[in-house]
Amino acid sequence: MFDRRGRFHAQVSCRATPGDPSPSSARATRCSVTAPTLLAAADPAVAPEPASRADAAPLATDLRELLTSVRAFLRDRVRPIEPRLAQHEFRDLLPELTALRSEVKARGLWAPFLPRTLGGRGLTLAEYAEVSAVLGESPVGHYLFNCQAPDVGNMELLHTHGTPEQQQRWLRPLVDGMVRSCFSMTEPDYPGSNPVWMGTRAVRDGDEYVITGHKWFTSSADGAAFAVVMAVTDPDAAPHRRASMFLVPMDAPGVALVRNVSIMGEAGSDWASHAELRYDAVRVPAADRLGPEGAGFALAQERLGPGRIHHCMRWIGICERAFDLMCARAATRELAPGRPLGLSDTVQGWVADSRAEIDAARLYVLDTARRIDADGASAARDAISAIKFYVAGVLQRVLDRAIQTHGALGVTDDTPLAYWYRHERGARIYDGADEVHKASLARRILKRYGMESRG
Ligand SMILES: Cc1cc2nc3c(=O)[nH]c(=O)nc-3n(C[C@H](O)[C@H](O)[C@H](O)COP(=O)(O)OP(=O)(O)OC[C@H]3O[C@@H](n4cnc5c(N)ncnc54)[C@H](O)[C@@H]3O)c2cc1C
Repeated sequence: MFDRRGRFHAQVSCRATPGDPSPSSARATRCSVTAPTLLAAADPAVAPEPASRADAAPLATDLRELLTSVRAFLRDRVRPIEPRLAQHEFRDLLPELTALRSEVKARGLWAPFLPRTLGGRGLTLAEYAEVSAVLGESPVGHYLFNCQAPDVGNMELLHTHGTPEQQQRWLRPLVDGMVRSCFSMTEPDYPGSNPVWMGTRAVRDGDEYVITGHKWFTSSADGAAFAVVMAVTDPDAAPHRRASMFLVPMDAPGVALVRNVSIMGEAGSDWASHAELRYDAVRVPAADRLGPEGAGFALAQERLGPGRIHHCMRWIGICERAFDLMCARAATRELAPGRPLGLSDTVQGWVADSRAEIDAARLYVLDTARRIDADGASAARDAISAIKFYVAGVLQRVLDRAIQTHGALGVTDDTPLAYWYRHERGARIYDGADEVHKASLARRILKRYGMESRG
C-alpha cells in the first residue's frame, strides 16, 4: 500500500515466501530490514535521479529549475492523494484536485506549454516535452497543471484558428482552467482508422448549421463545457475536404451524453471518462465553425503533431515510474533469505531491456520534437508516425514487466501499475492504431524506393 506520502508500505513486501520455513517473527524482522530500502528506492526524491536517464542535450537553467519545481510538487503534494484514485470516482476527488490546481497556479507552474501572451512560459515543443515526461509520472500530473488531453489540443486549435470572439468565449476560460472541453470525432458505426469516412452531418440552414450524428470515445465529455465536433459538411467534396469542425456547447438542445463507456471494468467520470454521445439536430451559429468549411481534416492532422509528442512523453513518464517501482521491488523482494529477486537473470534482462528501451524512446521523441520546432510537423512526418507505435509498445512492455516483477501485488491497486495497465492499453489504439501508423510509415518509405500504389 501507499503511505500518506504515496510511498509503499512495508507490509506489501512482507508476505512469506512459499515453503519458507522461517517463523513469523523472523519474517517480521526481514520485512523491517527490506522496507526502508524499498521506500527509498521507490521515492523519486532519493531514487537514482534522472542522471541514469538519457538526455540528448543539456537543459537550459530555467527549464531545469522548472522541472525541479514540478517534480517537487508532484512528490510532496500529489503522491499522497494518488492511492485515492483507485478507490474513488474521479468526480468525488474534484474538490481536492481543484485545490491542488490552484496551488499549481499560485506557484507559477500553470500550463507552461502556453505562449507567454496567454500566461504560459512559451516553451518550445522540445522543452515542453521534458515537462510532459515529469508530469506523466503521476496519473493526474497533466490534469493538475492544465496540460491534459484533450484540452491542450483544443487550446492549440483555438489559439491558432479561433476567431477573436471564439477565443474570448472558449479559449480564455479553458486556459484559466475554469472549464474543460472534449474532442468528438470517432463514431461507433464508422472506422476511426479512416477518418475521412464518417456519418455525422452538419447541414447549413441560414446562419446556422444543424448537426446530427452519433459519436463515442469522446474523452472527458462528462463535465465538459463544450465539444469540438467533426462533421461532414460536403459529402461530395474530395475526401479530405468533406468535414468541418464546430464548437458545440455541451448543454445545447439535442446534445445527449448516452453513457460513459466502461473500459476494462471502469466507466470513470468527469475528466477520466470516455463518453458515447448523440447529436440530434443540434443548432450552432455558423460563427461557431472552427476554421474554414472543409478544413476539418487538415485541422485534425495539425492537432495531432504536437499532441503526439505530448502523449509519447507522458508515456515515458509512466515508464520511468514503472521502472523505479520494478527496480525497487527486484532489489528488495527476497525469494529466499538473502536472495533478492533481482539476482534472477530474467529480471535482470527486464531491467536492462527496459532501461535501454525507455532511453531510446525518450531520445527519439525529443529528437522528433526538435525537428518539429525547427522545420515544422510535415518535415518530421515519418518520425511522428514512428514514435507513436514505438513508444506505445515500450510503454506496454515496461508496464507488463513491472507488474510481473511485483507478482500478485502488481495486479492490485496498491501500486499505480494496474491503473496504468488498464488505462493505457488504449495507447496502441487512440490517435491512430499501431497498424495504421506502421502502414503509412512503410508506404512513405517504399514510395521513395519507387513503389507505386493505385489503392
Ligand atoms: C482510450 C481512448 C480514448 C480515445 N479518445 C478519443 C477522443 O477523445 N476523441 C475521439 O474522437 N476519439 C477518441 N478515441 C478513438 C480513437 O481515436 C479510435 O479508437 C481509433 O482511431 C481507432 O478507430 P476505431 O476504434 O474505430 O477502430 P477501427 O478503425 O475499426 O480499427 C480497428 C482495428 O483495425 C486495425 N486496422 C485499422 N486500419 C488498418 C490498416 N490500415 N491496416 C491494418 N490494420 C488496420 C487496427 O488494428 C485497429 O485497431 C479514443 C480511443 C481510446 C481507446
